[in-house]
Amino acid sequence: MCAEKKTRIVKTIEIDVDKCNGCRACEVICSAFHAEPKYSSNNPARSRIRVIREPLRDIYVPVYAGEYTMAECAGRDKYIIDGKEYDECSFCRASCPSRVEFKEPDSGLPLKCDMCEGEDEPLCVKWCLAEALIYVEREEEYEVEEEKPEDLEIGLEALADKYGLEKLVDTVARLAAKE
Ligand code: SF4
Ligand code: SF4
Repeated sequence: MCAEKKTRIVKTIEIDVDKCNGCRACEVICSAFHAEPKYSSNNPARSRIRVIREPLRDIYVPVYAGEYTMAECAGRDKYIIDGKEYDECSFCRASCPSRVEFKEPDSGLPLKCDMCEGEDEPLCVKWCLAEALIYVEREEEYEVEEEKPEDLEIGLEALADKYGLEKLVDTVARLAAKE
């Protein structure tokens, strides 16, 4: 099988937990940037970065939202790092049914970090004066499978079997007329 190699830029935010002081400026700017209209309000509950925060135990973990998942973890682990005990979900980036973070408060729809699309640098990184958030871009190679005409034929045959050839041809003609 022949696969073409391409490169893409992967954007990430490195987090230095030890530098975070829990100021929550990152939550404020993220929610303001994503407000409708932009900057019209701020509400950390709508932020795509949340600071897991327990001042009495000196625990501050900024986490930015990843993908939504329906699956709740069956087994969970506690972490003890430098004598501090972190809860099971502290380092997880998923929006999932078992946590309140990363959900739009009104609709319950999952929130996901979009790296502040349109900005030259993520705003949470810019606003973090403690430098706990570091923006990192790296180049990554990935393989693109060559499209094979046989695959298209197999797909069309399956559709023709399901809906009938005539309906399939009509639909394709209708779609072509739209373009
Ligand atoms: S802005 Fe920086 S220091 Fe403040 S809570 Fe966010 S990550 Fe922590
Ligand atoms: S990069 Fe932008 S969207 Fe993502 S968490 Fe930071 S402020 Fe929010």
